[in-house]
Amino acid sequence: MKLSYSKQLLDVQQNVISLIALGTSSDACLERIASEIEQLIPNEDVFCSIHRLVDGKLRYAAAPNIGDSYCSAIDGLEIGEHVGSCGSSAFRRESVFVTDIESDPLWDGFKELALSHGLRACWSFPILSSYDSVLGVFGVYFGNKKAVDPDVTELIQRFCALASLVLERELNESKARELNKALKYNSHRFESFAQAMPDLVLVLDQRGNYVDIYGSEVNSLMLPPNLLKGRNLADVLAPAKASAMMSIIDQSLLEQKRVVFEYELDVQTGVRVFEARVSPIRNYNLEEPGLAHVIWVAQDITDRKNADDTIRKLSFYDAVTSLPNRRLVKERIVSQLQKAHDKSLYGAVFYIDLNDFKRINDAVGASGGDALIAEVSKRITRVLDVRDTLARVGGDDFVILLDQMDSDLEDFSSAITDIAARIMSVFEERFKVAGNWFRVTARTGISLFGSEHISGEKLINQAESAMYRARETGERVLFFDETVQQRLSEKLSLEHDLEHALINGEITAYYQPQVGISGEVGGFEALMRWEHPKEGFISPLKFVPLAEQLGIISELQEVVLRHVCGLIKVMEAQDLVAPNFRIAVNISACQFNKDDFEASILDVLNSFDVSPTRITLEITEGMLLEDIDRAIKQMEQLRTLGFELSIDDFGTGYSSLSYLQQLPADEIKIDKSFIDEIEHSEAGRNIVSAIIYLARQIDCRIVAEGVEEHAQLVDLSKQNVDLIQGYYIAKPMSLEAVLVWLNERKSSHALPAIKSA
Ligand code: C2E
Ligand code: CA
Ligand code: CA
Repeated sequence: MKLSYSKQLLDVQQNVISLIALGTSSDACLERIASEIEQLIPNEDVFCSIHRLVDGKLRYAAAPNIGDSYCSAIDGLEIGEHVGSCGSSAFRRESVFVTDIESDPLWDGFKELALSHGLRACWSFPILSSYDSVLGVFGVYFGNKKAVDPDVTELIQRFCALASLVLERELNESKARELNKALKYNSHRFESFAQAMPDLVLVLDQRGNYVDIYGSEVNSLMLPPNLLKGRNLADVLAPAKASAMMSIIDQSLLEQKRVVFEYELDVQTGVRVFEARVSPIRNYNLEEPGLAHVIWVAQDITDRKNADDTIRKLSFYDAVTSLPNRRLVKERIVSQLQKAHDKSLYGAVFYIDLNDFKRINDAVGASGGDALIAEVSKRITRVLDVRDTLARVGGDDFVILLDQMDSDLEDFSSAITDIAARIMSVFEERFKVAGNWFRVTARTGISLFGSEHISGEKLINQAESAMYRARETGERVLFFDETVQQRLSEKLSLEHDLEHALINGEITAYYQPQVGISGEVGGFEALMRWEHPKEGFISPLKFVPLAEQLGIISELQEVVLRHVCGLIKVMEAQDLVAPNFRIAVNISACQFNKDDFEASILDVLNSFDVSPTRITLEITEGMLLEDIDRAIKQMEQLRTLGFELSIDDFGTGYSSLSYLQQLPADEIKIDKSFIDEIEHSEAGRNIVSAIIYLARQIDCRIVAEGVEEHAQLVDLSKQNVDLIQGYYIAKPMSLEAVLVWLNERKSSHALPAIKSA
């Protein structure tokens, strides 16, 4: 290349490159390149043109000194093997030199146009990109024929390289623009999609920071999105909520899977329920690839929940009575079973069936039947605890799940027997249906449950089958469980028999002597006896509580008192005892607290002409605790009548010393359990000594009960106990036996205990 160009060439290159770098438009740059090359080629009629190649066609880019009509004629020309110099060069991807347009066949079809614009020769060069694709074509025209000149060729090729820079930049820019446009379009699409979503889409990072928030339900957020972004769950939620949500994020990230869960939040619009699907997303933040994120799609399901509740109500309650239906009571049984299992308790399910429902329904029609059912359910509800569940499980079938539970089967069985009796009592009164009065009866089956694994359905079925069995056997209430049923029917028959015992004269009294240290008989304790025709003697420990429950203890006691009066009369007549002897009678709590107590015993005594000064009333500490003032008044009144009062089972109650001091008692009976301890330990002996000391302080006579051993007697006599009672002296005896025993003693005048010592 001629040196004269070199300097110029460098300058031109420099200029063009700065234009490109400055961001000058491609057309301006190409225009500049074209004019510069026209300048650079000396002494020639030179015209330069640059075309872009777009979709296989030449597109005009720059030709500062070629006529417009020529340029527009070329514009849009499809390239090919024989399409002028430029079209052929772009097609062949190589330089094409046409030294004379007029004679070169390549120009067939275009030569007139060229010649008419004063163009005689044309050299064309493809403009190649850095990837060797054809970006355009560089054409240099000459006004005369022009043979190939390597220097000029080299120069042009340098300019081709510059044009390539421009076109390549242009191409990249347009690609970037398109990419940008596509991105914008996509993000716009996503945003409008997110906006239209009924859900909330949150992106949170692994630390619980809100990163992005999308969705229309922004009111369902704790704060507006702009205030929420960048903050942490712990900043906006209560600690328990925040940590619950954090653990969901942790779980989703750890297991790399979607976690679905429900939660409740007090958001801007109030308390709402949400269902969230939380999934891990990878590479959400390209700048911090180590930071993991989750996408948290939350849907407000409050309304759906409310609708569910309504459906629940419809499907869990009976329309006629508004009572829970079978399904609901079954659900509650399940939770009660769980409780029974966890706490080792017993529970109960009742099944009640009306006996005459069909008959009444036929008589009064369906609406009358409904009214009856409603009334029955109302009455039963009244006798139940509010926490019990009464459910209607069929036309005239009800199920009751008791709230009450107990760890003691015996206690529980008797409690539910009472409840069953209360329930059955609602049928005693007649029912008025559609203007008519009907007597309605019912049967109840009861199924008990404990820690065993059993379904709610099974329990109901058991109660139902017990109800059917009750129907067969003609009973009103039956337990499903065999053993409970057994025990209960025993109790029921005992109850039944006890009521008859009174009439049949099976109740009598036995007497156990109370003897002083020096052998004198101070008196007897009367102990109630029931001689059952089949069972023989039944312990008062068993039947006294039952009689108390049945409310017949006063009558039984009256029988005992009559026997006692009879004995007193005989003893007085036969002069068998000391002038101040007494007979002790045990009094139940329920008697002692009755207003007519005094009058009722005085009546009996008067009818036998027996003085109250022959009677000691044995009461227990527990009887006095409830209303101590009243008890004291009662005791004082009894004392003024001549009765003496004895505190039975002393030491086994909870009474305090100061409390005992207030009591107007005449006697204290040291319980057998203390007497038993005398021989066993020093401590046991000390306790008895302390009780004796205490009794002395309050000026009471002391009776030691349950003395069975000689050693006990020796010890007690050392401590100056007033009276001794126990098998060591004598077992409780019948009236006849007492008389024999007394007569024997009268002749020997000796205390058997001392005698054998
Ligand atoms: P309690 O009043 O403590 O009567 C003493 C009980 O101890 C009696 O039992 C008696 O037979 C028994 N006993 C006496 N000495 C000995 C002994 O040395 N060893 C042993 N192991 N036992 C002895 P029982 O007759 O079975 O009476 C039991 C309980 O029944 C009485 O205890 C009393 O609470 C109640 N009871 C008896 N009769 C009547 C009554 O007429 N009315 C009332 N309300 N309760 C009565
Ligand atoms: Ca007693
Ligand atoms: Ca006692």
